[in-house]
Amino acid sequence: MNERDSEEVAALLRARGYAFVDSEAEADIVLLNTCSVRDQAEQKAIGKAGRLARRKRKEPNFILGIMGCMAQNRGGAILDSLPDLDLLIGTQKFHRVPEHLDAMIQTMRGQGPRPSTIIDLEEEAGSQNTINSHDIDEDPKVSAFVSIMQGCNMKCAYCIVPKTRGEERARPIEDVVKEVRQLAESGTREVTLLGQIVNQYGIREFPFVDGKSPFVQLLESVHEVEGIERIRFTSPHPVGFKQDLIDCYGRLPKLCEYVHFPLQSGSDPILKAMRRPYSVAKFRSIVEKLRAVRPDMYFSTDVIVGFPGETEDDFEATKSTFQELAFDMAFIFKYSPRPGTTAEALGDPVPKATKEARNQILLDCLSAQSLKRNQALVGTVQEVLVEEPARRGENLFTGRTRGFRRVVFPGSRRLIGQLVPVTINEATASTLFGELVLGGLDNPSALHLVGSEKT
Ligand code: SAH
Ligand code: SF4
Repeated sequence: MNERDSEEVAALLRARGYAFVDSEAEADIVLLNTCSVRDQAEQKAIGKAGRLARRKRKEPNFILGIMGCMAQNRGGAILDSLPDLDLLIGTQKFHRVPEHLDAMIQTMRGQGPRPSTIIDLEEEAGSQNTINSHDIDEDPKVSAFVSIMQGCNMKCAYCIVPKTRGEERARPIEDVVKEVRQLAESGTREVTLLGQIVNQYGIREFPFVDGKSPFVQLLESVHEVEGIERIRFTSPHPVGFKQDLIDCYGRLPKLCEYVHFPLQSGSDPILKAMRRPYSVAKFRSIVEKLRAVRPDMYFSTDVIVGFPGETEDDFEATKSTFQELAFDMAFIFKYSPRPGTTAEALGDPVPKATKEARNQILLDCLSAQSLKRNQALVGTVQEVLVEEPARRGENLFTGRTRGFRRVVFPGSRRLIGQLVPVTINEATASTLFGELVLGGLDNPSALHLVGSEKT
């Protein structure tokens, strides 16, 4: 989501005539977009801002701004340690960055006293509708993020997002579809729809139609956009992951058989303490229903280890659920107490070393699971959406399978943006290596039939 917000600011700035440079040292303006989900992310941003502030003291015309969740979370208090900051921009104000920068530069040119810091952290009705432009002329994207909503109305005990991102607000379906259509016209082939709980999309604003939730209606509308070949979304929540959404995997061929589905914990008492309103059995039943519709479904997840009160037994339950559900990908987080959350009062009783050990155990499980799944693909032909040259290796390109596995193979630049069949020859836990199937390039739509998976 932060990446998408940064893209939006970049697109607006470029449209306003600002130019981008390759290295930070050359930049006259640096804006840091920040995350508050864990304390570590904030500390990193504060360290970075401190280093940039030192540069500012030597170069008074250098402009430094902080945007996003940390600006929202810490507010004007950031200025106590960073008094030289020029801009402090909240999560509902990204679209105002160009006008604030213009004003700041105007004042600087007037050669008066140093302008005071611009602080813009208010809530703004309709701000969800402002994250809608892409830098398509400069930087057409094969795969693009599309923000469909902002905010979150859940109250997970550990989570700062409702505080930093506000109430849940959805964009109208037509607006999202218009954005996706423009992306498709510029060469985008894959979209990932973004929200904190995408399956809650529009639940208060828009009606159900024929038993279908607004999110399912949105998926159907995006599915009709010509040129879009693949649809993904992140993140859904077990609450509200109903049959209408499960059925989409059986009837919308562009919807990839991959879902990021955050578990958080495999222990019911911990889920309850986290105020996640589902049980492990409920979570499992959704996974099973999805696998019934798409037996080759890929799952990724988020897990937090070391939530206050997590015992060895709780962790064992998480580990066994993690293995049983055989997640292909996962983000494992060590619990970090956040200000203003309900769990803040519980402190941070699980020792750091225990959290680290639990984190490592799940990472080891993940490597084994990912490797096994990837190895099962060796010898198959996978449909790959070609994205870009690989970072290393001449004439090597990368793309992803429908199951979101990264594939590296020899190819050429003209394949970027195409769906190509690739025979998988080798697998590591994170990457597949393969070769193009010759002669299969001219009829990419037939490729859905090509992929098969060893069991
Ligand atoms: N809306 C998404 C999650 C957004 S935050 C959802 O509900 O699934 C992304 C992830 O960060 C969460 O899924 C959680 O695993 C992790 N996270 C959030 N708060 C955290 C905290 N205080 N400490 C550690 N991890 C946290
Ligand atoms: Fe945070 Fe929970 Fe909302 Fe996700 S659903 S953003 S974890 S409060």
